Amino acid sequence: MLLWCDDCLANVQMFTPSQAAQVAGVTTRAIYRQIEQARIHFIEDTSGFVLVCSRSLKVALKP
Ligand SMILES: [Zn+2]
Repeated sequence: MLLWCDDCLANVQMFTPSQAAQVAGVTTRAIYRQIEQARIHFIEDTSGFVLVCSRSLKVALKP
């Protein structure tokens, strides 16, 4: 799903934390850690549901 990312200033593919974990080959917990450390962009809807920006995910996971 393509959604607006305020940090990229672009429409980007957004993943749920579990999708992001699968794509990145890490645990969901690791994804939340990246979010907490502001290493990946995320959006949160009014019900508190988090979606992560795939573009920043790729950057964050670069060795
Ligand atoms: Zn972004």
